[in-house]
Amino acid sequence: MSQQCATRYPLVLVPGMLGFIRLVLYPYWYGIVSALRRRGAVVVAVKVSPLHSSEVRGEQLLVQIQDILRQTGAGKVNLIGHSQGALTARYAAARRPDLVASVTSVAGPNHGSELADYLRIHYPSDRAKGRLLKALLWLINALMNLLETGYRGPKLPVDIQASHESLTTTGVALFNEHYPQGLPDTWGGQGPEEVDGVRYYSWSGILQPGRTDRGRNLFDGTNRSCRLFARTFVREAGQCDGMVGRFSSHLGTVIGDDYPLDHFDIVNQSLGLVGRGAEPVRLFVEHAQRLKAAGV
Ligand code: CA
Repeated sequence: MSQQCATRYPLVLVPGMLGFIRLVLYPYWYGIVSALRRRGAVVVAVKVSPLHSSEVRGEQLLVQIQDILRQTGAGKVNLIGHSQGALTARYAAARRPDLVASVTSVAGPNHGSELADYLRIHYPSDRAKGRLLKALLWLINALMNLLETGYRGPKLPVDIQASHESLTTTGVALFNEHYPQGLPDTWGGQGPEEVDGVRYYSWSGILQPGRTDRGRNLFDGTNRSCRLFARTFVREAGQCDGMVGRFSSHLGTVIGDDYPLDHFDIVNQSLGLVGRGAEPVRLFVEHAQRLKAAGV
């Protein structure tokens, strides 16, 4: 077996909103865990509350990090979070920097999601449309819980309102006041490489007509959803992956912010159906090599 991704510390993958480990046989990190393991990495995909605040999810993650450290005998972990998983990882690292070697944000709404802002305005929780959206999320979550086969921990609490608020621009701004580690000082800039001994990185994609809507994404409904969601963006109109804006994703060292990947492509969903010329798995492999070279 190759050792090119054999990082010093285990890689812990943290999913986003409505995240899971495996639905029946279908993994969240489709083809990513196996690609990293084949190259010598120790990889653990975790699950936290699919619908809850980043703080509550972060506390759950801290418990699991300590379990992983006990099981592997490692001194720290490398956290890689997709979407809200990035905020979850940031929380854990801010609270226990002694347990975390690095935080990597993959399409993380580190300055909020304009889609969440749009839904707050147009689907308020005290109106019928808002209640319908909540009911739909509740139903999806219940269905996913039935199909989950990869998680064996305690029952995870759900708070749809807290989940939504923790993804809006206002909600994330409040979160950032408490947990600013790794954030850039200027909009669109890079953040510090390291804070409190934790290395910070990020990468993200944007919709690129003629690329992201072609290739195998022609057969992926999630790409169509991303194109629809992208219409809600104002500040980063034309510069988003459908759910997160390009600059909003910046954290620590920005590896890249304009890959031809929508919000689902970036974790190789669905079933590896991505746009033309997209290689999301390669980005994870290269990043593991980067972490290894950095000695973490
Ligand atoms: Ca896709």
